[in-house]
Amino acid sequence: MKAEIIAVGTELLLGQILNTNAQYLSVQLSQLGIDVFFQTVVGDNAMRLEETVRTALQRAEVVILTGGLGPTKDDLTKETVAKILDIPLKLHQESLDRIKGYFEKMCRPMSSNNEKQAMLPEGCIVLPNDVGTAPGCIVEKDKNIVILLPGPPNEMQLMFKQHVYPYLRSRSPFIIYSKVLRVFGTGEASLAEELMDIFENQTNPPVTPYAKQGEVTLRITAKAENEEEAKKLIEPLEQEIRKRLGKRIYGIDEESLEQVVARLLMEQKKTLATAESCTGGLLAQKITSIPGISQCFNTGVITYSNESKVKLLGVLQETLDKFGAVSHQTALEMAEGIRNRYKADIGIAITGIAGPGGGTSKKPVGLVYIGMAVPDKSWYQELHLSGTRERIRNLSTMYALDMIRLYLLEQ
Ligand code: AMP
Ligand code: MG
Repeated sequence: MKAEIIAVGTELLLGQILNTNAQYLSVQLSQLGIDVFFQTVVGDNAMRLEETVRTALQRAEVVILTGGLGPTKDDLTKETVAKILDIPLKLHQESLDRIKGYFEKMCRPMSSNNEKQAMLPEGCIVLPNDVGTAPGCIVEKDKNIVILLPGPPNEMQLMFKQHVYPYLRSRSPFIIYSKVLRVFGTGEASLAEELMDIFENQTNPPVTPYAKQGEVTLRITAKAENEEEAKKLIEPLEQEIRKRLGKRIYGIDEESLEQVVARLLMEQKKTLATAESCTGGLLAQKITSIPGISQCFNTGVITYSNESKVKLLGVLQETLDKFGAVSHQTALEMAEGIRNRYKADIGIAITGIAGPGGGTSKKPVGLVYIGMAVPDKSWYQELHLSGTRERIRNLSTMYALDMIRLYLLEQ
């Protein structure tokens, strides 16, 4: 089955609003095994909207429109679609009652304009709106299915989940189910080499890599009658990839490194303290974004100056003088210092040159040291990163998180 998405709204064309509705719908449709070959954005203009809808109807069985269901004059999606399909709009009393109820609940007077929102194509499937005023609808005409959804993303998404997904699911013979394996610390090119035979075997289920900052995700996508069947197809391939990549796979699906680290810390009841220089608290920020981490996150300090490294962490002035703030010696003393002073199980420290200025030939921008201290040992990692200040800072925290993760996995 082929579907096409049309987002309606002049504000989208002006770039005032990002077309997140199309993205959401595309993800959903791909999971339903429905092909999307075109996404269009059109302004609040009857003539151009008509042209867009007519074109879409020729190319796809399912045409989904979002936006333009509002109460004002420039909202003309329903009127235009009704005209094209040659179906009159009729007052849908139940929707009108719902809209009235909505305003009563909000203790706001309903404007007569809102009545327009209860006018729906005759014979359509009405999609009630539980979080806003505009109902949506599904219109079946000849070989086409036209689905009208409201513009506000929260209303659109809820309506899609509640009504449109089950409707389309019942018309689509199979689903697309995917599982994402997240790999940190190995580039896309070397992964491609290690998994070449798997990537080349593009039968069901294929594996597609996607490189993101510092990590590569491997998406295994299965086409099957239902989720259970899809999982069965994915399982052996996942095991094979896991066998080859081992601990480099840090998580699945939407899991982030900080989530994994937080989970391991909580499971092992270990405490962590962080000392950051060039990342300015970014590592602590990421860790503390995870709910429930207070039982494990002990202390985080930002020691940007040499003075604060000495004062707050007990780094020796000698070490700073001899090796500099960006050195493995300093990173180790920072990690040991934060761990000892704040009585944590794990101390981790980041010091480096985030740029764009401040680099020298011996210590270029992107040189970062991560020190790590645990009860019986301490060690460090030297990174040579490239890119913007933002990228260097972000990658540094990811490497630090991964260092904690790898240590915890061995416990
Ligand atoms: P409308 O139903 O056209 O009146 O849209 C109402 C509001 O929904 C707009 O002002 C936007 O804030 C939002 N909206 C409309 N279309 C989209 C879209 N394609 N993606 C994200 N937000 C949208
Ligand atoms: Mg609009």
